[in-house]
Amino acid sequence: MAQCAGTKRNGERCTASVEAPLALCWWHDGSNAEQRRRAASKGGKSRPNRITKELHSLLESLTEQVVAGDLEPYRASVAGQLVGVRLRLLEYERRVKEQDELVGRLEALEEQITAEKNSESRRSAWGV
Ligand SMILES: [Zn+2]
Repeated sequence: MAQCAGTKRNGERCTASVEAPLALCWWHDGSNAEQRRRAASKGGKSRPNRITKELHSLLESLTEQVVAGDLEPYRASVAGQLVGVRLRLLEYERRVKEQDELVGRLEALEEQITAEKNSESRRSAWGV
């Protein structure tokens, strides 16, 4: 086991240990960058409000139709309720995504902490 050749954000040498032939831990190995990025943004940012725009124009159109007398108030009211249901569903989806993202970030942190702990306890066992 060797020590990771990477540098931590605070400028200190990374304390994670690595198995030969690797020279960098999972955290510092560039080939894991994509995986790390996915873990960090698991669930992703919400798409730039395509659905919000859709709902805006739907509501606008419903309002115009009701005002113009082209749509019965009852139908418009039901449509409005359905829009409300969709909004609640979107909010639910957002919360789930947020939770997934947090879990992904926690798992990455736990992995790093475990790797550093392991390498520290090995070093103290050797009296280094
Ligand atoms: Zn490292």
